[in-house]
Amino acid sequence: MIPDQADTIAAIGTAVGGAARGMIRVSGPDTIACLTRCFRLVDSSDELTSISFPQLIVGEFQLAEDVSLPCDLFFWPDNHSYTRQLSAELHTIGSPPLLEQILSILCRHGARVAEPGEFTLRSFLAGRLDLTQAEAVLGVIDAADSQSLHTALSQLAGGLSKPLGDLREQLLLLLAHMEAGLDFVEEDISFISANETERQLRAAQELVAATLAQLATRNQPQILPKVVLTGRPNAGKSSLFNALVDRFAASHERGRALVSSQAGTTRDYLSATVSFQGQLCELVDTAGLERQLSGESIPGIAQLLATDQRRQADCLVLCLDLTEPTTAAEIADFVGEENNSIILAATKLDLNVNPLELPSTPRIVWCSSQTGAGLTELVEAIAGELRSTSVASSSVASTAARCVDSLQRAAESLDSARELVTRGGGDELIAAEIRLALNELGRVVGVVYSDDVLDRIFSQFCIGK
Ligand code: GDP
Repeated sequence: MIPDQADTIAAIGTAVGGAARGMIRVSGPDTIACLTRCFRLVDSSDELTSISFPQLIVGEFQLAEDVSLPCDLFFWPDNHSYTRQLSAELHTIGSPPLLEQILSILCRHGARVAEPGEFTLRSFLAGRLDLTQAEAVLGVIDAADSQSLHTALSQLAGGLSKPLGDLREQLLLLLAHMEAGLDFVEEDISFISANETERQLRAAQELVAATLAQLATRNQPQILPKVVLTGRPNAGKSSLFNALVDRFAASHERGRALVSSQAGTTRDYLSATVSFQGQLCELVDTAGLERQLSGESIPGIAQLLATDQRRQADCLVLCLDLTEPTTAAEIADFVGEENNSIILAATKLDLNVNPLELPSTPRIVWCSSQTGAGLTELVEAIAGELRSTSVASSSVASTAARCVDSLQRAAESLDSARELVTRGGGDELIAAEIRLALNELGRVVGVVYSDDVLDRIFSQFCIGK
């Protein structure tokens, strides 16, 4: 649920622990009332109520009747603040108990402690930031290296939302023209030609495809969790890889693995970026497990690469051919050897098979790459595993995860709309597809959102941001 914006909120805005300086942030309609009870301006002829533009005020914070603390107040009496509400920052000595005490005094005078990310949530709700920029704020805070910082900063500067926002505007205009034409359908008046509609839809498709490709490659080597398919040669890994990439690829570049009934076909490893329930990850197909091979032959080198990939995996999917006898001891042997999260994929379910004797753990999913049976369950299991092991994914990566599904749906609607135009389909149907695309683009930039989405994003923030 979205917290009440009429509340005045306060929180310590600096990192936990001692420091030379600490900062407490206050925002909301009662900011002045709250501060006048505990903050005194050094130039006592001035009052906070008489200040009309943002400024730095030197003063003292009243800790007790006879104890005051030198304190700088950054004060925004208007809507130029981060939250677009009346806001202030108290900058003083960074001692944690002191900052806690100031916070509790502010709460006694009418403020309440802010929820995680509530300042940024207010900024989003006030229209200062869009959703991708709000996530980028978190990305900047969490950046572990200079590359993630650079990505987060460019997202904050509108790198993703600006072109998509512009595209929404163009599509809204296109829709308005089409809807105006629908009102005059009897008179055969049209406000936009089929050629022009087709041209605009093609441009929209290209932009959405380029954005999807950009999201798929963004920060990929550093942050995408790795899901590695492993198992004996011929267990069905490459077929499973292809089936998963066909359905869940995050971009239009699709590498396909070579499938053959001859054992040991995957000589190297292949990888593709997929979106499993909104979680972007790198899916890797490795050479089969042939432990007896030496490292010098080509299959042997592939083995070494495969071993390397398995070690780096965040989630291992061990493929077991249902048509081949595999003993529980063999599985236990393999599972015991690896430290990663493991899911068993019992492959080739479509073939008439005798059920294997399988252990109850790790989790097992029965599937067929040929018919697609069980693939959704497998994806669910992998996504659950990645969530439970809380693979580090920066907030910027989570923007990508949140946006990819919407962008894919927008792309599908644009494809359908353009196809309808070329086939001379009805304007109502074209308009309906454009509306669907607009809705999905609106989700990306946060024009269309739900409380759930906001909860998920802002609960990742720390208090005070
Ligand atoms: P890999 O060596 O583990 O990568 O195995 P492949 O994906 O190359 O598959 C080995 C053989 O099993 C190929 O002939 C595939 O066509 C076949 N195969 C793989 N998955 C399925 C499946 O789900 N159903 C059926 N009927 N055959 C499959």
